[in-house]
Amino acid sequence: MKHLLVIHTGGTISMSQDQSNKVVTNDINPISLHEDIIKQYAQVDELSPFNIPSPHMTINHVNDLKDIILQYANTKQYDGFVITHGTDTLEETAYLLDLLIDIHSPIVITGAMRSSNEIGADGLYNYISAIRVASDDKAQNKGVMVVFNDEIHTARNVTKTHTSNTNTFQSPNHGPLGVLTKDRVQFHHSPYLEASYPNINDSLNIPLVKAYMGLSSDIFDFYSTQGVDGIIIEALGQGNLPPSCLKGLTQLIQQKVPIVLVSRSFNGIVSPLYAYEGGGYQLAQQGLIFSNGLNGPKARLKLLVSISNGLNYQQIKTYFES
Ligand code: ASP
Repeated sequence: MKHLLVIHTGGTISMSQDQSNKVVTNDINPISLHEDIIKQYAQVDELSPFNIPSPHMTINHVNDLKDIILQYANTKQYDGFVITHGTDTLEETAYLLDLLIDIHSPIVITGAMRSSNEIGADGLYNYISAIRVASDDKAQNKGVMVVFNDEIHTARNVTKTHTSNTNTFQSPNHGPLGVLTKDRVQFHHSPYLEASYPNINDSLNIPLVKAYMGLSSDIFDFYSTQGVDGIIIEALGQGNLPPSCLKGLTQLIQQKVPIVLVSRSFNGIVSPLYAYEGGGYQLAQQGLIFSNGLNGPKARLKLLVSISNGLNYQQIKTYFES
């Protein structure tokens, strides 16, 4: 039987609904009370370094998770790691850990859309699924995975797509890495593994701007006075911006602020194709970096990691384009 370390961080999976239907935090994590079921799948040790809803999660919390995992990975006493987490920022924690940690053992993150005492609660089921994946020999060398609703996803591609549906986690463009059936864990694909870097500096200021029809220069004018360390723009379509925002953007370009473009479209990747004013071709000529298929919050984490580890412009560009 495999020996796993479980790290509970809070979120709906650890919460309950009260009599007035409000979802509230518990002092004792209800998921831990199911020892008899859990021990059928793995030998599990548990830690609860914090018990917070995932909108309260910060870079420092994720860095603490990284330190815990690396500390125990060094002791080689565990075959894998499972993290329980709120779903709102789960994909960000998963991806940031993926960028910061390079170990062979499985790291699996899960959560729940329904709190522990709701009808059809999915927490225990997802938790056991995560334990099953983390215990599977085929889960080695797959980077950080998200297991939810009988599917296995890569941290890089997964995103929360629905506010309340239990099938919320999906991987646009890619589909799941694998599935769980009642009796087996089946991987369909091999993940694309990115280079990882050890450091993260939580004091860097990298805002995320979403483009829309008629976006003005104001937001970029403002950021050009803030000493920002980088900017992520969720651009239109394949990576285009309205001409009305270009004056402000030019100031940031002149300040040599690294600017990374992703698309506000749910599927597809950005490409520097269009040659009209504000089109991707022009933006690339001015030095904007086109990301290879990340969403805005994840591109922000990747730029944070890039800058925290001292990558220069060309290295950041290569990292994003790879
Ligand atoms: N708001 C909750 C959280 O992220 C949602 C969840 O856990 O599903 O903590």
